[in-house]
Amino acid sequence: MARPIDEIKWQDLEIGAAVSEPGCSREYKTGSWRSLRPVVDEEQCIRCGLCWLYCPDAAIHRTEDDHFRADLEYCKGCGICARECPVGCITMEIEEG
Ligand code: SF4
Ligand code: SF4
Repeated sequence: MARPIDEIKWQDLEIGAAVSEPGCSREYKTGSWRSLRPVVDEEQCIRCGLCWLYCPDAAIHRTEDDHFRADLEYCKGCGICARECPVGCITMEIEEG
């Protein structure tokens, strides 16, 4: 388990700030940064997978029913998926609360 960022001193960093624990980004739920959330209209979705391809945070997953959905624990709400969707079926909606 990674330590909270405010408990890490510069002396604790690896030389060259190399990543010593691969996969540790899974422990940081960055979804709380989001002010907009992507919502997919699954009726219009043609399942091309471009949203999955373009998401810079690899936050989009293919579901068991063959749709693409954002994992809101990691999605930062950048809107790139909505911008790249060829049929425009992703809308960015304001986060509640
Ligand atoms: S809004 Fe940005 S971070 Fe969230 S799923 Fe779309 S591309 Fe990924
Ligand atoms: S980019 Fe749009 S049409 Fe393609 S899979 Fe994603 S939501 Fe569906």
